Amino acid sequence: MTDWTVEDSKTLYGISNWGAPYFNINSKGNVTVDVPEKGNPVDLKEIIDDLKANGIQTPVLMRFPDILSSRIKLLNRCFQRAMTDYGYTGKYRGVFPVKVNQQKHLVEDLVKFGEQTGLGLECGSKPELIIAITKMKYTDGLILCNGFKDRDYIETALLATKLGRDVIIVVDRKSELDIILQVAKELEIKPTIGLRAKLSTRSAGRWVESTGHKSKFGLTPFEMVECVERLKAEDMQDSLQLIHFHLGSQIPSILSIKASLKEGTRFFTELYNLGVTPKYIDVGGGLGVDYDGSGSTESSTNYSEQEYANDVVYTIKSICDEKKVPHPDIITESGRSLVAHSSVLVFDVLGCNNFDSVESHDFKPQPTDHQILRDLYDISEGLSLKTLNEGYNDLKQIRADILQLFTYGVLNLEQRAIAERLIFNISSRMRKLIRNEEDFADILYELDSFLCDSYFCNFSVFQSLPDSWAVDQIFPILPIMRHKEHPDRRAIIVDLTCDSDGKVNRFIDSETYEVKSTLEVHSLKPNEPYYIGAFLAGAYQEILGDLHNLFGDTNAVHIHISENGGYTIDHIVQGDSMSDVLSYVEYNPEEFVVSLNEDCMNGISKGTLTEDQAALLMKRFKTSLFSSTYLGS
Ligand code: PLP
Repeated sequence: MTDWTVEDSKTLYGISNWGAPYFNINSKGNVTVDVPEKGNPVDLKEIIDDLKANGIQTPVLMRFPDILSSRIKLLNRCFQRAMTDYGYTGKYRGVFPVKVNQQKHLVEDLVKFGEQTGLGLECGSKPELIIAITKMKYTDGLILCNGFKDRDYIETALLATKLGRDVIIVVDRKSELDIILQVAKELEIKPTIGLRAKLSTRSAGRWVESTGHKSKFGLTPFEMVECVERLKAEDMQDSLQLIHFHLGSQIPSILSIKASLKEGTRFFTELYNLGVTPKYIDVGGGLGVDYDGSGSTESSTNYSEQEYANDVVYTIKSICDEKKVPHPDIITESGRSLVAHSSVLVFDVLGCNNFDSVESHDFKPQPTDHQILRDLYDISEGLSLKTLNEGYNDLKQIRADILQLFTYGVLNLEQRAIAERLIFNISSRMRKLIRNEEDFADILYELDSFLCDSYFCNFSVFQSLPDSWAVDQIFPILPIMRHKEHPDRRAIIVDLTCDSDGKVNRFIDSETYEVKSTLEVHSLKPNEPYYIGAFLAGAYQEILGDLHNLFGDTNAVHIHISENGGYTIDHIVQGDSMSDVLSYVEYNPEEFVVSLNEDCMNGISKGTLTEDQAALLMKRFKTSLFSSTYLGS
């Protein structure tokens, strides 16, 4: 097909469904990144070429701080608009949960852009608290302390208030209240306390277990009443300033958000009934990201950010009005929605396996050949649209039989090889025959996945897209280049790890919004790099990523989009070297060098290698230790 256009690519990959307004494809056929505030898109392929020219290899994680800034502004705008529209008298207080991405430069950017709107930070552990206290210097952002807490955590949180930080310690488990009160008494610091409610309303999505009476965190109604009584007994009920609940992450449906909000807000108004007057309601995270543009799957959302803000504000307002309780300041802990769009992982394709051009080598069965080979020959010879259905069913059965026959020693390796050649050859001819035949759509789908290419890619799923493996999260994945050309191949993405799970074979079909098992890609050209991007990768992936096969962090770059359409690279964060990952698993790279040197000396003295060979081996070894864990170009 020669008349393929950029518009065809946009439709095929559904880029405006999941990527607007940040990602698009330009007239050169390359993917671009933009923010509405700037309006001058930058070309991802050109950036990768520049990075390569400057020695920065793929895989590379590209972070776009301008997108972060745009997301912070967007959420604020949505809540301000909803509050104005509904006559809400409380304020909006956005808070970023540090656990979603703790990377230093990202947190620094968030607080830089967040200062204007008073973006706060939520922490779920002591190290995250240290990040929050040291990185957020302005006073109008809240620091929320969630998660399991010990004395140290609480002491640090309380003492930070003496530096002017606005810290709220949220009681996730009833026993924490005792420690908070005791430490506060000893330090003579009045704490600001929140209570996390355990909601019974069942949420939706992959993280439904965050709600319900067996959820890990939060107080049951009777524990909450006991906490209030305890605070009253200490005459500290005015310390209780916040009610928090969290519905789970990536909630696909607005209806379940609304249902949980109603229950959560009732906890808030009931505190007034118990004689306490909290100022904040913290609705937690959960605002989803539309990873596939469908509006109907767990990787998507059936609501916009504005609808989310409207529903949060409206629900809280109507219940508070009904119960004659003042409108609280609304805190959201949206993490995914703030940072997912800001990172794109770009990796290169190292090579491919394809099965649809396998020749049958003009095989003609002999009377001595096994019946199964003769059957295959007959299917091959008689192949036509008329025989296709029956032939395809027979072929599937034969595929299964061949394995059995080989395993039990009936077919030898040569016979199995002939059979498999025929199977691939017949399958690809079948596929060609039915490519445009609607009646054979099911068979076409199966043949596409059977015959698809494997594109071997320079990255690790476990390190860079762990949710794709762990929870079947769909990420938008597409080539970042050649969109003026027809993507003539279908492939699964296979990573570098020696793990059969190290692949991506779930993509969104932008026409049907069904999950498809292969991605349309271009044939590889000799000596021409081919780059693929995994988009919306800024939330959770970096920190959940692991060192499977010792593939470490990729290089990361921070790219600032300039007003004039250019860009600047603000930071380059070198990925892990081999020496780094080896030391993570307790090896001492220097000991390796000493040990190998000793072996070389012994080899030289025994005459098994020359001095030149030893010198070359040592040189390669030392360079490797300080180079990337990924493959070089
Ligand atoms: N707040 C709490 C208490 C959480 O546990 C989480 C993550 O699950 C979040 C906020 C962030 O959620 P999300 O990234 O879906 O906005």
